[in-house]
Amino acid sequence: MPANIEIINGDQIGGCITVISTGKARIVIDFGENLPGAEKESKVEFDWKKEKIDAVFFTHYHGDHIGRFMEIPEDVPMYMGKVTYKVMKNIRSARRDWAAVNEMNRRLKSGNINFIEKAKPVTVKDIVVTPYTVDHSAFDAYMFLVEADGTNILHTGDYRDHGHRGRTVKNGVEHNTMLDVIQYHVHRNDRQVDILITEGTMMGERLKEDYFSEKDLQKWATTDLMKDNRHVFLKVSSTNVDTLASFYQAAKANKIKMYANSYVLEQFRTYRAAGQANKTHMYDFYGTELFPFEEGPDAAETLRKLDKMRKEGFIAIVSETEHYQKIMDALQDVKPVLVYSMWEGYIDPKKENCYNKNLADFCKKYNAIPKHTSGHAYPSFIAQVITAVNPTQCIWPIHTEFRDSFFDLDISDELKAKIKK
Ligand SMILES: [Zn+2]
Repeated sequence: MPANIEIINGDQIGGCITVISTGKARIVIDFGENLPGAEKESKVEFDWKKEKIDAVFFTHYHGDHIGRFMEIPEDVPMYMGKVTYKVMKNIRSARRDWAAVNEMNRRLKSGNINFIEKAKPVTVKDIVVTPYTVDHSAFDAYMFLVEADGTNILHTGDYRDHGHRGRTVKNGVEHNTMLDVIQYHVHRNDRQVDILITEGTMMGERLKEDYFSEKDLQKWATTDLMKDNRHVFLKVSSTNVDTLASFYQAAKANKIKMYANSYVLEQFRTYRAAGQANKTHMYDFYGTELFPFEEGPDAAETLRKLDKMRKEGFIAIVSETEHYQKIMDALQDVKPVLVYSMWEGYIDPKKENCYNKNLADFCKKYNAIPKHTSGHAYPSFIAQVITAVNPTQCIWPIHTEFRDSFFDLDISDELKAKIKK
């Protein structure tokens, strides 16, 4: 029996749920929140009792993919990356949400939460799911090859090729990591993909955004930015590991110290361990110091640290809250700059649904310089992935508000005819 696929919320960025069934088994890929700004504000009701799901697989730790995992009943096994689990637990610890932390510990112990590893297949009755790592702004992000009773499905999750893990150099030759995985692993022994489910965040209006890679960002921060500025505040998501690494490497090259709060320092330890386990020192974040406010604004230690920051320079991860602004204001004498390295939609009043006034006011107050690398593939790379996978039956766009733009991609007419309408 050919596998049956059902996609919920495929036509929005965030909250997409994929259900794959055979006669014997049913699995779900991703169960997250709608992103702020999604057209449909209400979340999908999913009847776990009625649906009888055998397992849920998570592509990565972004809330729009995994945010609702605590709603999943305990008799449904969950599969996620180890770093995903740690990063999520760090976030809940920082919020002092001890109920959630305990629940996560308990579910891990009971065997409800299971860790996946690249290229290690997981069998669920007559479905075999093999995870492969992909380049994304989240650290351990996976795509899934789902072999479901004779139907081969490749679910990309979120991906790109312009992050630090998108390219590797072997014997002096640059390789595209994802295209290599498709060629050497997915297509191994002439295995064909029948159905390709691919994200399309950057289709449509974001198509106009200029190409800007993590390497470009790192280079800009190392030279253009730090040539003139040794006092830098940085607003970036604490889970955007690649952008954090771009600035860490830039700081290291300029012998400038990084500063962050205790929660971000904990995430850094998680990224460092995971990076070193993958034989990279990109994510070491060595020597990062605690941002001074935590010692109290009047304490002698804070004043000593502020002086050190003035003298030695700094890259400090900041936020729009008041206790950050107090320190930022105290350091205005050295004329620091603020770099805003997040999607510009959040500070654009024209983007009514996603506009964050507090954040926008903060950026305005400190004359933020916007510099951001997208976590998602540019359309040109989506076209390359589709062409490389060359699915026999169907191309199914998800995680996009502009599925019609898939017909404008630079792919063959034969492939265009397979795009799901
Ligand atoms: Zn994501």
